[in-house]
Amino acid sequence: MASDCLFCKIIRGEIPATIIYEDAEIVAFKDVDPQAPQHFLIVPRKHIRTTLDLTTADNNLIGNIYQVAGKLAHDLGFAEDGFRIVNNCNEAGGQAVWHLHFHLLGGRDMTWPPG
Ligand code: 5GP
Ligand code: ZN
Repeated sequence: MASDCLFCKIIRGEIPATIIYEDAEIVAFKDVDPQAPQHFLIVPRKHIRTTLDLTTADNNLIGNIYQVAGKLAHDLGFAEDGFRIVNNCNEAGGQAVWHLHFHLLGGRDMTWPPG
């Protein structure tokens, strides 16, 4: 836990968020500025700064995050139509919050290449 981290504060319940899923190691909540009709952030409870800070000890965690993403997409009804999972890393990658997170976007046709 990092005391000044926005997502750690959401995980601790110090900042409100619409939480749609949580378990012992993962929390998912609505993005406050949705870029698609369905836009959620899936985060580990553990404070990991970026993708570059992952170690082999986190391999199961990342697998579980993808399992949660698929389950949410299925349960929320957009799995079959299709969806996108995005992880932005560092400034040029578009990362703005320094707690590892995966965007789950659905409910519209995605474009490629991404912006
Ligand atoms: P990044 O650019 O780091 O990949 O994504 C950060 C995401 O966090 C953005 O999509 C942004 O809208 C979202 N976000 C920023 N502040 C808050 C907040 O206070 N609550 C929620 N629910 N999402 C936030
Ligand atoms: Zn954090």
